[in-house]
Amino acid sequence: MEPGTDNSKKLLTEELVRRFSRRGARRARLRRAVQVLLWLGVVQTAALGKRAVDILAAALIGTLFLPLAFPLWLWSKGHGQGLVRKARLGRWAVPYQEWELSIPRTGVGRIALMAHLNALPALWNVLRGDMSLVGPRSVAPGEVSMAEHLVRRRHNVRPGLVCLWWIRQRANIAYGTEAESDAEYVDTRTVKGDLAIVLRALPAMLYGEGIASASDEVAILGMRIDNLTMDETLDRLMEWVGGDTPRQLCFLNADCMNVAFRNTRYREVINHADLTVADGIGLKLAGKILRRDIRQNVNGTDLFPRLCAALEEHGGSVFLLGAKPGVADAVADWIRERHPAARIAGTRNGYFTPEEEPEVVRQVAESGAQLLLVAFGAPRQDLWVAENLSRLGVRAAMGVGGLFDFYSGRIPRAPVWMREIGMEWVYRLIQEPRRMWRRYLVGNVVFLWRVLAQRLREG
Ligand code: UDP
Repeated sequence: MEPGTDNSKKLLTEELVRRFSRRGARRARLRRAVQVLLWLGVVQTAALGKRAVDILAAALIGTLFLPLAFPLWLWSKGHGQGLVRKARLGRWAVPYQEWELSIPRTGVGRIALMAHLNALPALWNVLRGDMSLVGPRSVAPGEVSMAEHLVRRRHNVRPGLVCLWWIRQRANIAYGTEAESDAEYVDTRTVKGDLAIVLRALPAMLYGEGIASASDEVAILGMRIDNLTMDETLDRLMEWVGGDTPRQLCFLNADCMNVAFRNTRYREVINHADLTVADGIGLKLAGKILRRDIRQNVNGTDLFPRLCAALEEHGGSVFLLGAKPGVADAVADWIRERHPAARIAGTRNGYFTPEEEPEVVRQVAESGAQLLLVAFGAPRQDLWVAENLSRLGVRAAMGVGGLFDFYSGRIPRAPVWMREIGMEWVYRLIQEPRRMWRRYLVGNVVFLWRVLAQRLREG
């Protein structure tokens, strides 16, 4: 072979490689451009979709409610009130004027306010594009600092008539911060999700205000309740864990109330516990009916991850006692995975004979745990804690019902949207109808009946 041929072959190969790589680069550029265009298109279509839904829905609701809104406006005007405009910050923090119907707080006005008819004129803002049906709460200029604007990403979207935080506050499950809720909405919003939020807002209206100016202690059906928020409860528990006196916390839900109604000892235990907190939507409704607002739904299942985080941060170890064999161990694994620095002093299942009881007590005491979670179901767990507290060697103990079953993954917990409409109990009923029908279908009615009777007695 001649060297020249070899050389020309090499040149040819190099030329081909160059050409192909040029073509490759061109193709890559083209592909990237198409991707960007597609992405812009999708975003644009989604935004247009949301805008279209906003306009259609606002026009529809506006038309439907006009026969109600017009006389209401005339009536309010007759009482020296009527249409008002409030300065608000919209998308990209651009100021706008939000319309509102100022309604007197008397007679029909009160009902109209409860149904949020005062917000009807803001539908005009939705039509104009200042607002959206769903979005973060509209804020007044100066209400949120510049730093917060950035953190919250809330101004990436139009403010909404209905917002996720508002729904959670009403269902008493607004545990995090409004900023977190806003960010969650902005990051995950879809037109379908917005429609779901609108639907969830309907039952939320029924539940009334969120954390209101409520008293620190309330009595419902003769039971004393410490009216604390989730954060306050957590702070108290951590104080106990760091202290030197054993203390007991009880979660009180509508079913517990029914049990306590016929079980005197249980009633005593709850009323003498160091803390008794209101658990579930039933108690919130009872508080509403009896005009004793319940600040927050403080249930063990929502408290638990926060408690593990606090143990991790401040120290203190936990003993998990209860549920079927293997379940408490699976919960311990859950803690180890998510909160590796939280110490687990021991675990044991909740199926033992009365003869084995002293040994169970000894096991907890010898573990050196500061905190004890007992999952035997109510009322047994709370009675057991009260009976044995002084021998258990722990600083804080509480009955947590089905919590271990949820965190071990044995039973799935109701999705957030169901909890937001106060229907977690329906989910549990569907999961175990044979065990739960009496508790929920009969129990809830009996409970509400007793609450109504108390209200009538109180006048
Ligand atoms: N359990 C137990 N020992 C018993 C009976 C029940 O450890 O002798 C457990 C049961 O396995 C379940 C929990 O107690 O994990 C009770 O759950 P339930 O859903 O009844 O509690 P709730 O939250 O409704 O009070």
